[in-house]
Amino acid sequence: MPLQRDDCLFCRLTREGDFVHQAPGFVAINDINPQAPVHVLVLPERHVDTFRDVGEFDAGEAKRMLEFVAETAAKVGLTDYRVLVNVGPGGGQTVFHLHWHILGNLADRADVPAALQERAG
Ligand code: AMP
Ligand code: ZN
Repeated sequence: MPLQRDDCLFCRLTREGDFVHQAPGFVAINDINPQAPVHVLVLPERHVDTFRDVGEFDAGEAKRMLEFVAETAAKVGLTDYRVLVNVGPGGGQTVFHLHWHILGNLADRADVPAALQERAG
């Protein structure tokens, strides 16, 4: 199976995007419609439709992907943050190229309980 798909927005962004972090096989970009003061997306260069297909990565690549998520958060200055993956339309997925959301500086979000907001400062 080819690494990338011609008709995929996120495949294109892995080649042309404005990266906040980059490593072999992975890039990170700012979300165009941020849901938190810091909202970064981690994109593997390998096109995989959804997290359900995460087994298409070999073990080493999957480990590097997780490490890259953590490295990206550190690179953009976060120590505390939320990582999430929307899986399928029913899970809120709108772009069908696996990606990881990193959300940071959540203190002013209405859906974060007050106790957590105090801890987040
Ligand atoms: P999801 O709903 O989990 O599939 O997330 C898709 C995310 O991609 C959304 O948060 C969008 O705001 C974001 N997005 C869509 N188009 C772009 C783009 N051209 N550049 C950066 N982020 C994008
Ligand atoms: Zn793609």
